[in-house]
Amino acid sequence: MKKPVAQVRLLRVAFHLDAPLRRGSNPRTMNPSESYSALLAELREINRLGTMESLLAWDQQTHMPGKGTPFRAEQKSMLAAMMHQRLTSKKVGDWLSAVETSDLVADPQSDAAVNVRHTRRDYDRAMKLPEELVRERSRLSVMAHQAWVEARKNADFAAFVPWLEKTIALVRREADCIGYKKHPYDALLDEYEPGDTTADVQAVFDELRDPLLQLVGRIVDCGREAPVEILERTFPVDVQEKIVRQASAAIGFDFQAGRLDVSVHPFCQTCGPHDTRLTTRYDEHSFGDSFFSVLHETGHGLYQQGLPPEHFGAPRGHPVSLGIHESQSRLWENLVGRSRPFWRFFLPKLKHVFGPTLADVNEDDWYAAINDVRPGFIRVDADEATYNLHVLLRFELEQAMVTGDLAAADVADAWNERMKKYLGLTPPDAAKGALQDIHWSLGAIGYFATYTLGNLYAAQFFEKASRDLGDLNAMLARGDFAPLLHWLRTNIHSHGQRFGARDLVRRVTGQKLSARPMMEHLNRKAAEIYRI
Ligand code: ZN
Repeated sequence: MKKPVAQVRLLRVAFHLDAPLRRGSNPRTMNPSESYSALLAELREINRLGTMESLLAWDQQTHMPGKGTPFRAEQKSMLAAMMHQRLTSKKVGDWLSAVETSDLVADPQSDAAVNVRHTRRDYDRAMKLPEELVRERSRLSVMAHQAWVEARKNADFAAFVPWLEKTIALVRREADCIGYKKHPYDALLDEYEPGDTTADVQAVFDELRDPLLQLVGRIVDCGREAPVEILERTFPVDVQEKIVRQASAAIGFDFQAGRLDVSVHPFCQTCGPHDTRLTTRYDEHSFGDSFFSVLHETGHGLYQQGLPPEHFGAPRGHPVSLGIHESQSRLWENLVGRSRPFWRFFLPKLKHVFGPTLADVNEDDWYAAINDVRPGFIRVDADEATYNLHVLLRFELEQAMVTGDLAAADVADAWNERMKKYLGLTPPDAAKGALQDIHWSLGAIGYFATYTLGNLYAAQFFEKASRDLGDLNAMLARGDFAPLLHWLRTNIHSHGQRFGARDLVRRVTGQKLSARPMMEHLNRKAAEIYRI
């Protein structure tokens, strides 16, 4: 939820790379095994370019002086162009064709089959987009983003409408180039959650919608309020820095292969097989802001650190999808980090370092405060339950935008109608409504669904881990996080892209993706805190 879109796009680009033809090698005279080696070498080199771009992006958001921006943009766009050219080169297509018809890929789960299958997907996708469209998209995203920043500042939706119109038209063209079976939105969704169609996501969101609305309604109606003021007391930043680092290391983040720095928006960026960088921000009067964002980004980081380093630079060593990536961050942030056992372990440490500030706080009050459910206008500030209603709203509007059923000019009104229906609120202005997210300004239509998919995957994985590991609550309460991390490494991280997201969840949990585990988790928590 706190990973900037541009970052994720960057990672995706970095995942899908291509490599240099060795001098003297000719794809037409190479045998399949040589073709595969050449392909792999090319993928790893393109990935190296991607990691350089990642490092530049990390530096830009953490250390670079502001005046460095224009030159940094040139550096990054040069690397992006180099990667795109290499991925879409003819030799990559030739190597792929040579290997695809060979025995090397006979077993669909073999490393070669995984690498070839995913590279083919990315290659075909890249080849279907005319260069003119790719350039236009890049140009438009810069312009539309600038317009969005200004429009949001002035809460002026009308000023953003022409840019949203252009963006919708462009992604619609993109969907037509890529192709789809049923819904143009399928082609867009597929960029972020490979293999999922609109109908797949719709089915699981339909299962979620009513039970979630009922739960939130019951919490609001019960009238019981959590003592959230505890979280707004004074927490000196230097002490917060120490404690978030301690929490991140406790759950397993390897600081010998990673860092934690400060940026405006928290994110996780991987710059190499043993180099994963997290960021956060600190607010002296909001304990949760940095603490939970660090747990969240640590979850992303643990996934990156758990991918097989020997496959770094090839799909076999890449994360499955944004939804699965988000499942790892949400699992540590919410399923672990907002659980009672976690705080049985960690609250005494907090009380020790913050002294009198938390002297009067008991476990019940703390647990209620960090799990406060309250409808609000802003998605990124939302709690574990209402967050998903913000996502449902965007998922529905985006589909209507892409089919042409909803004109850009009508988006703000449609937004407000759904806010009223789902959260019982009417935004006072567009800055707190349809202009709040960066995604559309960057052309990232089809992205939002992955946040709630992540929540659903997280709950389903966590339920199975609890069953497999015995008394997981007791482990968390004594600060023993290693068995859970080991379970995630074994079942999820170590596979890279061997299995698609839906296949992975079925293999790991024995069941298809469902809203049930998350709803049970949320209902249990609400029963405990709100006594409903
Ligand atoms: Zn995230």
